[in-house]
Amino acid sequence: MVTEEEWSGEVARSARFRLISPVIAIGAFGLIFVPCMMAGQALASGIDADLISVAIIMSFMFPLAFVLVVFGERQQRRTDEKVRSLNAELSSAVADAERLNGELSSAMAEADRQTEIRDSQAQRQRFESRLANALDMAEGEPEVIEVIERSFSSVLPDAPVELLLADNSHAHLHRMAAVGPDGQPPGCGVDSPDRCPAARRAQVQEFSDSDRLDACPKLRNRPEGRLSAICVPVSIMGRTVGVIHATGEPGAERTDDSVDDLGTLAKLAGARIGLLRVMAETQLQASTDTLTGLLNRRSFSEQVAAVPPHLYPIAVAMADLDHFKALNDTYGHETGDRALRLFARVLRDTLRTSDVASRYGGEEFAIAFPDCSAVDATRALNSVRTQLDAAITVGGLPKYTVSFGVTESEPGEELESVLRRADDALLRAKREGRDKVVLHDATGLSTPVPGIGRSDVASVLEEELLTTD
Ligand code: GH3
Ligand code: MG
Ligand code: MG
Repeated sequence: MVTEEEWSGEVARSARFRLISPVIAIGAFGLIFVPCMMAGQALASGIDADLISVAIIMSFMFPLAFVLVVFGERQQRRTDEKVRSLNAELSSAVADAERLNGELSSAMAEADRQTEIRDSQAQRQRFESRLANALDMAEGEPEVIEVIERSFSSVLPDAPVELLLADNSHAHLHRMAAVGPDGQPPGCGVDSPDRCPAARRAQVQEFSDSDRLDACPKLRNRPEGRLSAICVPVSIMGRTVGVIHATGEPGAERTDDSVDDLGTLAKLAGARIGLLRVMAETQLQASTDTLTGLLNRRSFSEQVAAVPPHLYPIAVAMADLDHFKALNDTYGHETGDRALRLFARVLRDTLRTSDVASRYGGEEFAIAFPDCSAVDATRALNSVRTQLDAAITVGGLPKYTVSFGVTESEPGEELESVLRRADDALLRAKREGRDKVVLHDATGLSTPVPGIGRSDVASVLEEELLTTD
């Protein structure tokens, strides 16, 4: 290793030697010139004396010159040596610097890559948490679908994307959400989850070109021609019920991030829809009667309380199947259950969807008719009686009938009070022979409406009474 001190020492020595050498030569020449000339004069005369003097001078000067040249040469070698080692050190320092530079560049490239990965992870986490938040706020399936549709454009901007979801039967896929640059969805023609490879395999499927041998057959013959596609299955409680389908240019490369984001969207949306369906199912179970599927007493009161004021006054009816105990006793409890279910079905089929029918308990039913007078409700209930009679014949059940008491709500009147009046009318219907609608009008009078016929159960009872007599 050559120090700067050594290098400048060597340079100074060389400079000194170059300066001193001619001085020594001139000095030595000056010193020997006169004695040599004198020696020449002493030994010869004329031109010979000069020649002898020059010869003597040369004999002194040549060795001196030789010594000076040798010293100069040595000094030069030493300086060259220093220059060479300095050069070598410089080269290795440059090589080290280049190596360090290379290492620094690759370290910086690696740091950039890590930053990029962290940035994209952070972006995906932000998307996931925003999506989870939006889905959490969505209170029903339509709102969830809207969130999914809005997410499409942030995951795959400018790409046609659609959500196909199965209906309750799981047999048909329906387009529930769709976006496209020109308003055109990808338009996959698959009609059931079983026919969709992504849904069937429960795996993300990427197709780079619809013309490839292993492309999904549903991608062929699309109006837009050749295309690429990605299909992400949507699962609800482990069961694949749909697919998110996006298309693009043939051979288009999708980033891992967009594929992951679609997967996240499918996962979170599936979980939310599943939860909402369970909640709806649970709510339905809690609010309905399991035998007839009608509302139970509690949810009847809730639904009537929710009727908006502009739909008042409302008509309210109480219904009770006639001689139902006898029907059970004669034909068995199972037939009794079928009779209850059939009556519930007739109520559903005959009344308006805005009417609120419920199983109030046992073989008693309560019905509310928003925006309807008691007279109109009486007509509707008589229609129920007619329809029930027909349905019994078609269903092959023993004949049974139903009695109704109906009334109209007074302004500001509590439901319980209206129901009590309807119940009074029902009792009157029972007392007056059953199988009829009795109206409790505003003057408090009950108006029996003629029945449509006698029931088998009534005949059985009469027969029993006759037999007893
Ligand atoms: P009425 O014409 O005076 O109403 O006579 P009824 O026999 O219909 O009245 P009652 O109150 O004496 O009998 C009601 C019967 O309804 C008794 C009960 O076993 C039957 N019942 C109540 N709930 C059910 C049910 O869920 N299934 C069946 N099969 N029968 C039921
Ligand atoms: Mg009863
Ligand atoms: Mg009864």
